[in-house]
Amino acid sequence: MIEFRGVNKWFGALHVLKDITLSVEPREVVVVCGPSGSGKSTLIRCVNGLESTRDGVLVVDGHRVGDPTTDMTELRAEIGFVFQSFNLYPHKTALENVTLAPIHVRKIARSAAEEAGRELLARVGLADKFNAYPSELSGGQQQRVAIARCLCMRPKIMLFDEPTSALDPEMISEVLDVMVSVAEEGMTMMVVTHEMGFARRVAQRVVFMDAGAIVESGTPEEFFSNPRTDRSRAFLGKIL
Ligand code: ADP
Ligand code: MG
Repeated sequence: MIEFRGVNKWFGALHVLKDITLSVEPREVVVVCGPSGSGKSTLIRCVNGLESTRDGVLVVDGHRVGDPTTDMTELRAEIGFVFQSFNLYPHKTALENVTLAPIHVRKIARSAAEEAGRELLARVGLADKFNAYPSELSGGQQQRVAIARCLCMRPKIMLFDEPTSALDPEMISEVLDVMVSVAEEGMTMMVVTHEMGFARRVAQRVVFMDAGAIVESGTPEEFFSNPRTDRSRAFLGKIL
């Protein structure tokens, strides 16, 4: 579903992605972790073309990202992206946030989009918040709206960039539980997170990045119980 082959990226003189080779199978959940500045956000932003790469090949759902013949608008519609900072439209209700793209991008009839939107909001535990504005919702609730908004587009892939880092501790599990249920339904996911409980529950693979390179990749079991490099051991020592 996602394949990086020898991908490099520079920001000016800064080599931020170093010869990345990584593939994510359909229905696979890959957790990406590593120190701040190691290139995790840049890596997943490449998948939906928010960042361009200089060499190597990146294929997503059979389409080459960055190729002039690839319709990036179409490809992006297949990819949900959940950010640390929710990024909801502040002047739209929860239901409007969720139905906007299906109506305007997917051209789904409003009534059908609203029905699907209500169903998805109920699924993320917000059946009583259809008409609430983001400012009337907690961080955890806003992030669940953001996830429902992605799901309403029926994406093939979901990318998450530290989706719980901005949340108060008591709200983290309500968001992780929703992510677990999305994973269990077979979504292909790349998740940048340091929530190792989440990784143990649903990830097939944990990828550890340091200084722009993938330093280690293994099952959660292998990675947590037997990290193979000094850098991954030091990292785990800090977060566990
Ligand atoms: P992480 O998500 O692991 O914290 P990032 O992918 O955000 O790391 O950043 C990787 C490196 O690239 C960092 O050194 C960061 O400062 C740098 N960087 C990120 N975005 C930009 C940008 N738009 N311009 C220049 N440098 C950037
Ligand atoms: Mg980041």
